[in-house]
Amino acid sequence: MPTCPVCGYPGLEEPPRSPAGGGSYEICPSCGFQFGVDDDDKGISHDEWRARWQEKGLKWSSRGIAAPEGWNPKTQLAKVMEAPRTPATPRRTALKSPVKGKKPAKSAKSAKRTPRKKR
Ligand SMILES: [Zn+2]
Repeated sequence: MPTCPVCGYPGLEEPPRSPAGGGSYEICPSCGFQFGVDDDDKGISHDEWRARWQEKGLKWSSRGIAAPEGWNPKTQLAKVMEAPRTPATPRRTALKSPVKGKKPAKSAKSAKRTPRKKR
């Protein structure tokens, strides 16, 4: 099941955004964000909403859907926080696969320096 990009709730019915880019109009039962409405229509960013939600005390939003047993907003929130999807900061390339061993991206080609010309 898709995860809410705002609060990290992993039980959304649909992906928040269709491949075409439209919102799902689903309301996250956890944080209450409605995709395609709160973002597109109201112009509230995920970060903004998350901040508000935190201020309100991380409460389960839905009245129709009960919170899962042992629901822990802090745990799920920590997961979104550690996986930012902002392309501006490519800290982690592995967003989906939680691979532990990082590839040593350093290929020691710096040894092939162009020799300086002596004057
Ligand atoms: Zn949410």
